[in-house]
Amino acid sequence: MRYYTLSHKGTAHVAASKDGKRAYILRAYKTMNVLLLKGHDGSVPPLSEAVGLDSPDVRILSPIPHPRQDVICLGINYSDHAKEAESFDKEAFTKDRPEPIFFSKRVDYSQGTQDVIPMHEDICDSLDYEAELAVVIGKDAYKVKAEEAFDHIFGYTIVNDVSARNLQTKHKQWYFGKSLDGFTPMGPCIVSKDEFDGIPELDIKTYVNGELRQSSNTRNLITGIPEIIEVLSAGMTLSAGTVIATGTPSGVAMGMDPPVFLKDGDEVICEIEGIGRLVNRVEGRREDSSK
Ligand code: MG
Repeated sequence: MRYYTLSHKGTAHVAASKDGKRAYILRAYKTMNVLLLKGHDGSVPPLSEAVGLDSPDVRILSPIPHPRQDVICLGINYSDHAKEAESFDKEAFTKDRPEPIFFSKRVDYSQGTQDVIPMHEDICDSLDYEAELAVVIGKDAYKVKAEEAFDHIFGYTIVNDVSARNLQTKHKQWYFGKSLDGFTPMGPCIVSKDEFDGIPELDIKTYVNGELRQSSNTRNLITGIPEIIEVLSAGMTLSAGTVIATGTPSGVAMGMDPPVFLKDGDEVICEIEGIGRLVNRVEGRREDSSK
């Protein structure tokens, strides 16, 4: 099942779709967070209202517009990305230890597909994209071994871990440069885990203005999803609704020679096989035409 948060005639709803074309509004759940806390068996009540996902009355929002907690991120979790990040700034991005690197991405509001990524050009001169497979937890996990981790997964979505590289290096710590307003586009939907055969191995790609920049497969993760859940849950409860962004492969702007950072008007598409496309346009500050 594919789970959406969508706006229909101006009202936000949680909806479920089998085919990604028509979605059934699930009125029993006010928000996706409620659905994740209560759980959902994939059934659609009879007489549920259906809407076309490409209808002009429908706007697809982030599946979780207000995550209950900040997004947990993996840093340098594809080996090819480790090399390019270190070549950009050895001190800020070096990974000389085998354990996973975790950091937090503050998110007050996650925008969805077709929404804008703000440039923050007054403080950011090096805006970058990172396509990532994100795991959505559906059942509280505490001291869960890798072999049992699958039970605690609800499904998967796409996160663009938008990054201000100059702020990551300037502040020596990634938190601020990863957490500006509008830096957590997510979507277009959460695909439930039963749509995949076990832990998914999926092609992951990014296009900027149609040019393929990132291309890999989630089987290349250094620390895999079950191990991530085991390591984190050894000391912290991963409650239902937790979002974990599993890291990005090579091909980000800072890894190019010279780097080609995002600019006003660029279209960024993050695509993961079996989930869909997260499409966002970069936008600089506009003059206020009302003045
Ligand atoms: Mg990242």
